[in-house]
Amino acid sequence: MQPFSPLRRLHQTLMPDYNRRATAYWWTVVPLGLAAIAWASADIASRPWTVVMQIAAGVVMAGLAGGFPIMIPRTKTSFALGEVFTFLLLFMHGPAPAVLAAAAEAAVASARTSRRWTSRIGGPALTAISMAGTGFLLEIVVGWPAGLQGIGMSVLVALALWLAIFHFMLNTALVAALPRLKRGEWLQWSDLTGSFGLTLGMSAVCACGAALLSEAFRAYTLPVLATITPALLMLVTIVRGFFRQQEATRALSEAEAQAARREADITARHLQQMHEIAFHDALTGLPNRRMLLAELDESVRLHRENHDRGYALLFLDFDRFKLINDTLGHAAGDTFLKHVSQRLSAQVEAADLVARLGGDEFAVLLRRPVTLDAVDALAARIQQAVGQPYLVSGTELTSSASIGITTSARGYEVPQDVLRDADIAMYRAKAAGKARHVVFDAQMHRELARRLRLESDLRRALADGALTLAYQPVFRLSDGQPLGFEALARWTHPELGEIEPVEFVPIAEESGLAPALTDYVLALACTQLRRWHARWPAVGTLGMQVNLSDRDLAQRTLPERVRAVLRETGVQPDLLWLELTEGTIMRRLATQRSVLLELRALGTRLVIDDFGRGYSSLGQLSSLPIDGLKIDCSFVAGIGQHHDTSAIVRTILQLGQSLGRMVVAEGVETHAQLEWLRSAGCDAAQGRGLAAPMAAPAVEAWLERQHGWGVGAAVPASAASPAVLMH
Ligand code: C2E
Ligand code: CA
Ligand code: CA
Repeated sequence: MQPFSPLRRLHQTLMPDYNRRATAYWWTVVPLGLAAIAWASADIASRPWTVVMQIAAGVVMAGLAGGFPIMIPRTKTSFALGEVFTFLLLFMHGPAPAVLAAAAEAAVASARTSRRWTSRIGGPALTAISMAGTGFLLEIVVGWPAGLQGIGMSVLVALALWLAIFHFMLNTALVAALPRLKRGEWLQWSDLTGSFGLTLGMSAVCACGAALLSEAFRAYTLPVLATITPALLMLVTIVRGFFRQQEATRALSEAEAQAARREADITARHLQQMHEIAFHDALTGLPNRRMLLAELDESVRLHRENHDRGYALLFLDFDRFKLINDTLGHAAGDTFLKHVSQRLSAQVEAADLVARLGGDEFAVLLRRPVTLDAVDALAARIQQAVGQPYLVSGTELTSSASIGITTSARGYEVPQDVLRDADIAMYRAKAAGKARHVVFDAQMHRELARRLRLESDLRRALADGALTLAYQPVFRLSDGQPLGFEALARWTHPELGEIEPVEFVPIAEESGLAPALTDYVLALACTQLRRWHARWPAVGTLGMQVNLSDRDLAQRTLPERVRAVLRETGVQPDLLWLELTEGTIMRRLATQRSVLLELRALGTRLVIDDFGRGYSSLGQLSSLPIDGLKIDCSFVAGIGQHHDTSAIVRTILQLGQSLGRMVVAEGVETHAQLEWLRSAGCDAAQGRGLAAPMAAPAVEAWLERQHGWGVGAAVPASAASPAVLMH
């Protein structure tokens, strides 16, 4: 315990940062300085009053100068021109007045710059000591007061210069010692040399100026005083003004630089955030598709440069995500996805990348060469991890992933292809029964290549008019007369030969070519029908059935396009039958009912194609804006077979009858099927057993033969007469 001491308490409050040594220094030097001031005051007091007045004027001027320091731009130092008066007094009246003047200037300066009494007293005291030392040096060198009298001007100026340097160094040493001592160090040589420069220079100028002035004063006191005071004032004002402006400019550029730095900071942070947003998924915090593609790009490039640097991509799709979203809500869906992202991240190594591609699609990029066995094992581990039950909104639920895999072994050139192949493999996994993983293979690659080729070739074929139509007659069963034809697209590829509609129609739908295909078929079929009507007016009641695809119904322009075709070809609207699959009607009914109604308002007929294969509720059928049903050929084929479908067909027929819709049977191949359908009350039928789809010239031959006009016309083998089966 420290003994209680009021002095110690005072020390604690006033000089908290002064250690023992610094305290000792202060209490030694400051009383010494004060003693010097006291001695100087006493010395002056003994002089004649005219001299005392002169000294007082000098001291006041020095003090005033201390109040108007000149800041040196780009530094923290300043100097006052008070030294002119101090040295003037030194040369004219000896050390004592100079000590007082120096102390006055320092007192004012310290009062301005510091609030601490240690500094406010210490400043003038230290300056008093250094000036006293300088004065005594002068006395020792020249002998005072007589010594200066006979001295030459140049010697005096040189002397002034050295005195100024001495004073400066002594003062600097005394002042710099304190902070050193506070830190427990000794004064360093650099403390003195470090502060050389402008301040020392100005000091020297002041001293030399004072030497010159003292000579002038000795000759003419008053005129000189009257001249130098305003001159000095002007000088101070000008120099201060100049320096201030410099300082302001510096402050401004400093502020500008600071603002620029801040802006750069903000920009950098902003960029960081933008990067975060642009390359990450907000929900899970995982890298997003963009980032995956960027990383994949890097992996592809590295592999191209060095085949030892392999990679593998796993594409994941969760099998029951839609169900979770639909039944438990989107918040639950989000929670599920977060769980999934954590489980996935836990299964991979640090160098691997887990990304969310959107929805419930995730990808894992392995940035290392891996064998198929290793990927296989990882996929199995992932299946196991994501297959564990999830607790979401208090409900325990399970899910599984379908995983598609591809690796650098396939020699990819662009990251998009890697993603595409993994995606295709994922679809295979899903189709194979979910919760599986499938590696993209050569067979899938061939199929894909063919598909991509067909897509671009189909585009060209449509533009070049390279597609043709086959027409399959549809017969009324009551009397065996043809009702019309179904137009079926045909495409003979210049190199690949015949391409089946089951292959190219889905390609058209997926590549946005479906409307173009429909327009093409509509125009060609209606033009053809109109031509036949013109040639054989007796068959003017024959209609044309055209298949629409799912994508057509999504287009609001469809009714307008149909109307345009009818107008241009002159086909009677009720002879155009538009076929839509059951799935399409059900999918589009809610949103596109108006399109269906518009089509009917045009006068065209709507038929449900492939009826029975879809999932339409029979209850909904009565409210559908349709005119007929086409029984899917699989049911017709099953009539009287092992898995007898005749009960289903009979139900569909009864349904059609009760709703007043016409029912057409498709794919009739045998006489037995035909007879069965006729006796069950089916309205119409088509099929190879009646007439196969024919190209336009074959249809024409068939029509001539049917109606006896084209005597001797050859009938193609495919165009079997319905009469064969009808009777
Ligand atoms: P779909 O509308 O059901 O067409 C009837 C299909 O049955 C045609 O196949 C036809 O050639 C075939 N077929 C004819 N007679 C028989 C038979 O006795 N038994 C069996 N099992 N089938 C028979 P195709 O021409 O290969 O067309 C297949 C599918 O492609 C069509 O099925 C239709 O969905 C689509 N399609 C064909 N042309 C077009 C078109 O121009 N536009 C659109 N959107 N789809 C078309
Ligand atoms: Ca059809
Ligand atoms: Ca059909």
